[in-house]
Amino acid sequence: MRILHTIKETRQACAIARAAAGDSSTVGLVPTMGALHEGHLSLIRAAKKQCNIVAATIFVNPTQFGPNEDFARYPRTFVSDCSLLENEGVDLLFAPTVEEMYPSGTDRTFIEVPGISDRLDGLSRPGHFRGVATVVAKLFHIVSPDFAYFGQKDAAQIAVLRAMVRDLNFPLELVACPTVRGPDGFALSSRNQYLSADERIHALTLSQSLASASASATAGIHDAAQLKSSIRERLKSSHALKIDYVEIVDPATLESISDIRRGALIAIAAWIGKTRLIDNALLPAMQPV
Ligand code: AMP
Repeated sequence: MRILHTIKETRQACAIARAAAGDSSTVGLVPTMGALHEGHLSLIRAAKKQCNIVAATIFVNPTQFGPNEDFARYPRTFVSDCSLLENEGVDLLFAPTVEEMYPSGTDRTFIEVPGISDRLDGLSRPGHFRGVATVVAKLFHIVSPDFAYFGQKDAAQIAVLRAMVRDLNFPLELVACPTVRGPDGFALSSRNQYLSADERIHALTLSQSLASASASATAGIHDAAQLKSSIRERLKSSHALKIDYVEIVDPATLESISDIRRGALIAIAAWIGKTRLIDNALLPAMQPV
């Protein structure tokens, strides 16, 4: 695996890899902020299956963090991340500094996807999706992938990026990969490292409340308000959790819906102590609607 820290050498390495792979070259990109776990590795494996060149990026992007968020203390485990990526057969790793990505400062040209960016996490974290869209657009320009892989765990991010790809005609396909969970159903996240053992037990209520809402939906409860209120009750039963939002939305527009039968995204966010966690469940459309 080649580890690259500058845009120039990354562009060159991608061009060389493409030339070596010939006419059938396909580049898959997996953007991450590091502190890698099985969720990230599932994206790498999906990319390896579909592409003959796989590039990963590790960049803790300051523009997607709010002023009082965890940018400074976000876990950084570069050496072990590199060996995980190497083991998965990643070809190129781009790991730039903040100065390399934002040489003129972070308060410059940006990309904003209006509407969608102000819903779910965008409402709780103003400016978050502007930072995400901007850095992902930059990574797309640097690596020029044919496919880019993102986790369904960050469902709102996928909606924002799909809209960006469509609106700005990026010549690539965005691939959404399922959320990887631990044996107890808890969604893997780099931020889980912040949780104490006791908080981790309480945090399990997130995935449990989603699982029971999905089961209720399958059993015939189609009213979003009813499903949301049972999720809220379940979350409230854990005194350590503070609800940020519980929403049932159209997965593409992130607009609230009242009936789930055409397909729905159930998305939740909650605070456990100083840690904010998100999780979601995607409900397929039901036949007949
Ligand atoms: P992050 O490093 O948190 O920015 O995540 C990088 C990518 O990994 C994003 O596309 C995330 O949605 C994805 N990801 C994070 N956690 C998981 C998970 N548990 N399962 C699948 N994908 C994930």
